[in-house]
Order: sequence, then structure tokens, then C-alpha cells
Amino acid sequence: MPEARKQVAVSGIQASGNLHIGNYIGAIKQFIELQNKYKMFVFVADLHAITVPQDPKKLEAQALDAVYTYLACGLDPEKTTIFVQSHVPQHAELGWILNTITPLGELERMTQFKEKKAGQNVLAGLLNYPTLMAADILLYQPDAVPVGEDQLQHVELARTLARKFNAKFGQTFKEPKALIQKEGARIMGLDDPTKKMSKSAAAASRIELLDGEAEIRRKIKIAVTDSGREIRFNPQMKPAISNLLAIYSNTAAISISELEKKYAGKTYSEFKSDLADALVKTLSPVQKKYKALAKSKESVLKILKNGADAAKDAAELKMHEVRQRVGLLHY
Ligand code: ATP
Ligand code: MG
Repeated sequence: MPEARKQVAVSGIQASGNLHIGNYIGAIKQFIELQNKYKMFVFVADLHAITVPQDPKKLEAQALDAVYTYLACGLDPEKTTIFVQSHVPQHAELGWILNTITPLGELERMTQFKEKKAGQNVLAGLLNYPTLMAADILLYQPDAVPVGEDQLQHVELARTLARKFNAKFGQTFKEPKALIQKEGARIMGLDDPTKKMSKSAAAASRIELLDGEAEIRRKIKIAVTDSGREIRFNPQMKPAISNLLAIYSNTAAISISELEKKYAGKTYSEFKSDLADALVKTLSPVQKKYKALAKSKESVLKILKNGADAAKDAAELKMHEVRQRVGLLHY
């Protein structure tokens, strides 16, 4: 009997700055769990990062940092194909082709575009971000795309474009489903619980995965709280405390209802101090591994080379079919 096809999952994180606890909870934690069940492709999205201005001197280091972080968090290159997006040119190639079947209006109404274009000289790359992301996904025929909630709309567009392409050129792409965490799919800023924690927001808004103990304690101490004294999960009434509860629950693997029980009658400051402990406990082994990995750049580059080779093989299979479907001349 032929072996059943292993389910495929694909995802990536932009090389746009230091990774934070929102990226960990919303995305990386899922990758680590999924890699035992799925055939996983996880990349560092450097082509996405340049949709907003980046310092070329820093971009390379940011991409490498993201890879060290993946590995330090437990992504295993024996199980997961880890690579850098720009090393697999089929992403950009399919992104271009998908642009040609994407209505402009669909891109203009994307929430991320509307948020990121604010106050900027709007560049076409930022508008076209979701078509490149659709290509990132569809090339690998995944069953699942583990992402944070903010990327749901883009995964939905990838599904729409898959359907559109299939209707126009014949069955080519599979429609994947997005996988999001129950609590923690959208970790909010520590300084403002109405805004998503992001690499591109103010540093005080996020706990970075490489923040030292003193920094973590300081940021949690000054994190905004809600009026009242109860430690209760209620995102509408208590957005700041609910966010801290979601971070706590996801880093210490304690359910939110258990945390509510544990902190009944306790103060915000006791709660915050334990949350900081939990973060330090989770992040310090990651930081230790990160430091060791950063000393063996050559072996990490080798992992990326192997990853790119494997990803290219998979991507080229699909791209070959796409070129034929679209009618591009070949020899
Ligand atoms: P940028 O500000 O440059 O857009 P980012 O912090 O939003 O950076 P991305 O690289 O855009 O990070 O996203 C990588 C992954 O992390 C995606 O799956 C995204 O949904 C997830 N993610 C990002 N921010 C959060 C968050 N605050 N909570 C949960 N998941 C998140
Ligand atoms: Mg983002």
C-alpha cells in the first residue's frame, strides 16, 4: 500500500525586526507543535519585509536573527524545511502571476494595507503584499497555514485566488485552511491593548524574545492595566488584563480559568510579578540556545541552503505546472 500523504503546513515571519512574544504565541508555538505531524515549510519572509523601507545593512542580520530564533525556539531542520523566501525565486514568480488575476479593489480593502499605508508614501509592494503571500502558500499545496489572527484575511485571499486561478486555468491549487490559536491569536501591545503587538510598533509595546530578565520585568511592570482590581478574562471590559492573561496562559501552559482562580483576590502587581517570572522561565532557555547558534553561523547557513534546495524542488514542481496552465512558452 502506498504511504498516506503527510499533511503539509506552510508559514513564515517577516525579517522586519526583533521577534516578540506575539510572534511566538501566534505563530512559532504552532510551528513547533505541528512539525511532528505535518510536513512543514517555514521561511523567513525577507521579500515581505522590504514592502516597508528597511536598512539594507540591517536586513541580512534581521533575516539571520529570525532563523536563529526559529531554531532556538525548537524548530528542527530534520523535520521542518527552513529557508529564506528570497532564496526560492518561485515565490516572486508566482506572486507576479497571481497579481494578474487579483482585482485591485481586493488589495485596497485589506486591513493590513490600510493600517500600514497610514502616513506613508504608499508603495506598490505594500499593496501587493497579499498576492506574494498567496504565492508563498499556494506553491506548497498546504493543508494548513498556521498564523496569527491578523493574517486570516490574507489566507482567505489566498483561497480566493486559488479558486479564481482554478476556474480560469483548470484545477491547479489546493485551498488551505488557516490555523489559529484559541487564545493568543492576537496578542495586543503592552502599552495599548487596542493595538496588535508588532515588530514595527514602539519597543515598550512588546516583549522581545531576546529581552533580558531586567527588561522583561521592567516592561511588564509598566504594562497598562484596566480600571478595577479583578484579574478576569474579558477582552471587552478588561482588554489589558485579558491580554496579559493570554500571554501568561500561553507561556506557562496554564489555562486562563486556572489563572483566574489562582489570582482571585490577588493584586495586579502580584499577578504581574508572576507573569514576568513565567516569561523569564520560558525565554531564558531560548536565549541561551540563540547565543550558541549565533556562534555557528556557517552551520546555520548550511541549514538554509539545504532548506532552500528542498523548497525549490517542491516549488518548481508547482511552478512548472502553473507556467503551462497560463500558456507561457517553454522548451
Ligand atoms: P510587522 O510589524 O513587521 O508586520 P509583525 O510583528 O506583525 O511584524 P509578522 O512577521 O508580520 O510580524 O507576522 C509573523 C507571524 O506572527 C504571522 O503569523 C502573524 O499573524 C503573527 N503575529 C504577528 N503579531 C502577532 C500578535 N500580536 N499576536 C499573535 N500573532 C501575531
Ligand atoms: Mg505583521
